[in-house]
Amino acid sequence: MAPSPALRCCKRALNWIPVLFINLVVAWSYYAYVVELCVYTIPINAERSKCYLVIFHAFLAIFIWSYWKTIWSKPASPSIAFALPRAEKELYEKEQRAEMQQEILKRVAKNLPIYTRTAGGAIRYCDFCQLIKPDRCHHCSTCEMCVLKMDHHCPWVNNCVGFSNYKFFVLFLAYATLYCVVICATVVQYFIKFWTKELPDTHAKFHILFLFFVAALFFISIVSLFSYHLWLVGKNRTTIEAFRAPVFANGPDKNGFSLGFKRNLVEVFGDQAKNWIFPVFSSQGDGHSFVTRLVHIDPEQVNSILQQNGKMWDRTWHHNNTVVMTTNTPQRLCRLQQSEAQGI
Ligand SMILES: [Zn+2]
Ligand SMILES: [Zn+2]
Repeated sequence: MAPSPALRCCKRALNWIPVLFINLVVAWSYYAYVVELCVYTIPINAERSKCYLVIFHAFLAIFIWSYWKTIWSKPASPSIAFALPRAEKELYEKEQRAEMQQEILKRVAKNLPIYTRTAGGAIRYCDFCQLIKPDRCHHCSTCEMCVLKMDHHCPWVNNCVGFSNYKFFVLFLAYATLYCVVICATVVQYFIKFWTKELPDTHAKFHILFLFFVAALFFISIVSLFSYHLWLVGKNRTTIEAFRAPVFANGPDKNGFSLGFKRNLVEVFGDQAKNWIFPVFSSQGDGHSFVTRLVHIDPEQVNSILQQNGKMWDRTWHHNNTVVMTTNTPQRLCRLQQSEAQGI
């Protein structure tokens, strides 16, 4: 039985508690650093205090910016092209036999750039959203939708981390780590002075001792998560794929989407180095299909896909054994690797 609207509303409100907690910790760290450290402990007009305030605010600003973008980027869902056409949908719903339903899905999927299957070799179909799942797409039960290149649902940002915000999420972890490093590195000398009673017992003492402990604790937990995600980016895997390898026509392969370290990095951060450090969207592709080193389709099939999707795909070119099919908008880029493409 579906939960009542009041219960769903209550659940949605409770989901914001971890975000509220993070915001309260950041707000308190701001007060402790700016007021208790830079105003009361180091005299505000001292050069050191001014220098600390400039560095602190620069890192805080970019940390908040990337956190904000991770929270508020709407998860990307599959386009209408992945929904069953009306006639097929009616047939699918009437059909009781699973193998016949699969035949319907196979017929529709033939026209789509889909190369991964379920562990049993079936076309991946979402019964909730009633669509064929693009490669790397998964249904999130918290967001109640299919999310493109879903990585995981993160309670600390109360959002799905996926194609639309994965770059922001990695930057959020990077800047959260740096924010903790800046605090620890500048507070440590005052921490020692308070600890050894070189500085008098004032109300600042509690805040500064606690600020160092909290920043060190957050640093340890965030840096391990950040390192793990850097490793995932380098391998071109999502968290889901790290636990369960995607299944291709020739079986599961955890490296199926890996194109080498540099290209993997470019797929998430984009090919313009100037965009890498800022939380602006620069990931490549449209999230519906990904270059894979495992797909070997014959030239006839490429032509047939292009013809059947005449409206959707309007251009092709070949580059390093890769057939690229793209729409007329740069955001909706779809690429298919094809090993014998030169002959087309
Ligand atoms: Zn779904
Ligand atoms: Zn989600």
